[in-house]
Amino acid sequence: MQASRRQEGSRKKSSNRAQNSTPIRNTATRLGICFAVAQASACDFHISNRYTKLLENRVSYTKQTTAPHSNRYKKALLATCSFRLFSLYFSSRIRRVSSLPATRRAPRTSSGLTLAFLPWYLRRHRGVDMRRILPGLTIALCAMVFPACAFAQQKPIVIAASTVLDGRGHILHDTRIVIENSKIVRIDPNASPVTYDLRGLTVLPGWIDCHVHITYHFGPNGRAEDKDETPEQSALAIESNAWLTLMGGFTTVQSVGSPEDKPLRDMINRRAIPGPRILTAFRPLFGRGDATGTPEQIRAYIDKVAANGADLIKIFASKSIRDGGGPTLSQEQLSAACSEAKKYGLRTLVHAYRDSVRMATLAGCTEVEHGTFATDDDLRLMAQHGAYFDPQVGLVIQNYLDNENRYLGIGNYTESGFAQMKQALPLDADLFRRALKTPGLKIVFGTDAVAGADGRNAEELIDRVRDGGQDPMAAMVSANSLAAESMNLQDEIGSIAPGLQADIIALDGDPLDDITAVRRVAFVMKGGMVYKNVARAHIPQYAGVTP
Ligand SMILES: [Zn+2]
Repeated sequence: MQASRRQEGSRKKSSNRAQNSTPIRNTATRLGICFAVAQASACDFHISNRYTKLLENRVSYTKQTTAPHSNRYKKALLATCSFRLFSLYFSSRIRRVSSLPATRRAPRTSSGLTLAFLPWYLRRHRGVDMRRILPGLTIALCAMVFPACAFAQQKPIVIAASTVLDGRGHILHDTRIVIENSKIVRIDPNASPVTYDLRGLTVLPGWIDCHVHITYHFGPNGRAEDKDETPEQSALAIESNAWLTLMGGFTTVQSVGSPEDKPLRDMINRRAIPGPRILTAFRPLFGRGDATGTPEQIRAYIDKVAANGADLIKIFASKSIRDGGGPTLSQEQLSAACSEAKKYGLRTLVHAYRDSVRMATLAGCTEVEHGTFATDDDLRLMAQHGAYFDPQVGLVIQNYLDNENRYLGIGNYTESGFAQMKQALPLDADLFRRALKTPGLKIVFGTDAVAGADGRNAEELIDRVRDGGQDPMAAMVSANSLAAESMNLQDEIGSIAPGLQADIIALDGDPLDDITAVRRVAFVMKGGMVYKNVARAHIPQYAGVTP
């Protein structure tokens, strides 16, 4: 019964095909719609898997039911490509077609125009057996899709600036920055037309924070720990931290240890949510004396973290400052960890106080974090070994003290823990001044931002300059090209120069004259995409972060 119905169906199909070309024409129309939808919705990113599958099915069906006609292929291809080029040119001449930026406007408009070409093409071939033109039509439609992708970012973005700090310690005046796709292609004072006029502001590379905990947040109960928090609430709070950090002018951060960093990093990289570029250590190595393990066991642990796709290794070689900051890893253990990481080309960031500063330096670790109680000899040793030093003077402890009631009673956030942190404040300020006087010591910018500090990362810059006495240009470089160098990313980020990522911010004010200008971030571009532009308006306040 079923078999006979199938036979009947297939007979119907073939007789239809013989009488007229309606089913094939329907297929062609469906095919055209598929391509058009795919082109309109997906040309800026990737054609989604769903559409790709649809297209594959259609194309294979077309192959089975038609024979090739090379002349018609060529004609259709030529006609569509010519029309495509004409409509691209035509639409690029039209201004204010939509609110889309210029780089997207032309391809999108031309997509619409090219789509209008389809009914005309079908009408023109009305009398012809549709089977004969279907292959040509397929190729023609392909030709419509690909130029849209190829030309999607054709027009450069031009930023006009009166003052540019290039991130390497130089100042450029009255120039223009030309951006194509995600990168800076040239600095050209005569480039035009201007897309973003940032004259009157100070333009510089997006800042880099070498030490954050971007996933740490206060729960719905307002405290640093909330056992009733749902995964959804946690995810939103983390996403908010990423947004605040980006709005604060930080286009890259190094998050030093949380499993949630990975999905956050990957979502931001896919431009699914806004946030800074993230490098992460995932799971840090926590020193616990002998209980940490033998050097062999430590090497095995590093192997595991490296295999998980970590961007760097974070090591806790000292107790918390709230517990006195004594060493938790021996010289042998530290050497095992840092040399093993080096085998994978991974950098090592070591949380270190007191003697651990010296031990981490001798172990060949990349960067020392905090460093409280380090001696002048320790600082000189770091300079000799080329270790980067990331001290904190302006945000992390102040943030704990400002939010004491949100932390108190959790873990080692005890009364005595807070007393220890208060004592550390002047010690850290003194350490920073001594570090500045140490010849050749590479001081990078890192805040150790935890819950409550996201979006206020630039406060650390203010304290380093205003209270610590750092030269403001050196402070800017420490959060730009030097920070990038510490991450081996100097060819990618941290400077305004051709070939680098277009991570560009602008401040209302000149930080070289008034360091508090770092609070007034008026423009944020990351990888060529603008996330904030209030160049000619008041600077908004986000989640209590005062501009
Ligand atoms: Zn930290």
